[in-house]
Amino acid sequence: MTRMSTPCSVLRLLAMCVVLIPPRFVRAQAASSPAKLSVHWEELTASDFREGIRRSQGTCLLPFGILEKHGPHLPLGTDLLDVRYAALRAAEDEYAVVFPEYYFGQIAEARHEPGTMAYSRQIQLALLQETTDEMARNGCNKVLIVNGHGGNNSLLPYFAQTQLDKPHDYVIYVFDERTPQHGGPPKKTTIDMHAGESETSKMTIAHPELVHPERATSESGADLARQKLPEGVYTGIWWYTRFPNHYSGDGSAATKELGEFQMKWWIDSVVKAIRAVKADDVSIKLQNEFYEKGTHPLDTQP
Ligand SMILES: [Zn+2]
Repeated sequence: MTRMSTPCSVLRLLAMCVVLIPPRFVRAQAASSPAKLSVHWEELTASDFREGIRRSQGTCLLPFGILEKHGPHLPLGTDLLDVRYAALRAAEDEYAVVFPEYYFGQIAEARHEPGTMAYSRQIQLALLQETTDEMARNGCNKVLIVNGHGGNNSLLPYFAQTQLDKPHDYVIYVFDERTPQHGGPPKKTTIDMHAGESETSKMTIAHPELVHPERATSESGADLARQKLPEGVYTGIWWYTRFPNHYSGDGSAATKELGEFQMKWWIDSVVKAIRAVKADDVSIKLQNEFYEKGTHPLDTQP
C-alpha cells in the first residue's frame, strides 16, 4: 500500500475485520501457534517453522559433526551424536531452531581409517556457505555454528572471517568449546585429545548403548611424538605423526560422573551462547557499516 491511511480509515478497517472474521478462524489461528514447539527444523510444519523463527528471534543452531574413526570403542558419528545431544538440549532450554544432521567438515587426517567421509575443501566451504545462506533466506539472521569436531578448528573461524568478503544479511557465530578446562571429577589420564577419557565419558551420557569400553585398550592412543620441529612450525601431518591410530588417550578411563559433569557444562555453555547471540545487535549493525565502507575505502577516515 502506498497511500497513507488516515487514523479514521484504519479504525473503520479494523471494525470491518472484527465483523468479517468468523470466530472459528480466530480459534484456528490461535491453535496454529502451539505452546510447545519442536526445536528440530525437520519436525516443524511450515507454519510452525514460521512461529519457531519468531520465537527464536531468528537464532538458529547448526550443530557440526563429522564421520571418522573414534578409537576402537566409539562410533564413527561420535562428534555428530554428541554435538547434537548438547545443542538440542540447549535449544530446548533457550529456544532456537536446530538444523538437521550436518557432517561435511574437515577430516583429511583420518582418510586412512575405515568409515571416514572426507569431503574436499571446495565442497566443505561451498556447502557450508549455501547451507547458511539458505538458513538465512528462511529467517535465520543469526546462525550459531556449534562445533563438535576438533578438525574443524581452523575451518570454522576461516569460514566466519571470510563472510566479510561480500555483504551477507546475517551473522555467523561459532561456538567451539566442548570440554571444561577445570572442575569436576579428577581425571585419570593426561593425554586426552580424541576418543579418550573425556570424549568417551560424554558419549556414555549421550549414547551409552554405542560405547564399547571393553575394546578401548585394544589399540594404543599414546603420543608417539615422532616429529622433531620447534614450537610454532606447523605441518598438516602433525596429528598422524603423534597419533597414527587416530586415537589420543585412553577411553577405558571414562566414567559416567565425568560425562555428566562435562555434558552439563557443554549444554550450559551452549545455552549461554544462544542467549548472548539473541541479545547481540552490535554485530549485524557494524557488519553492515563495514560492508558499506568497503565499497568506497578511500573515503574511510581514521
Ligand atoms: Zn571426536
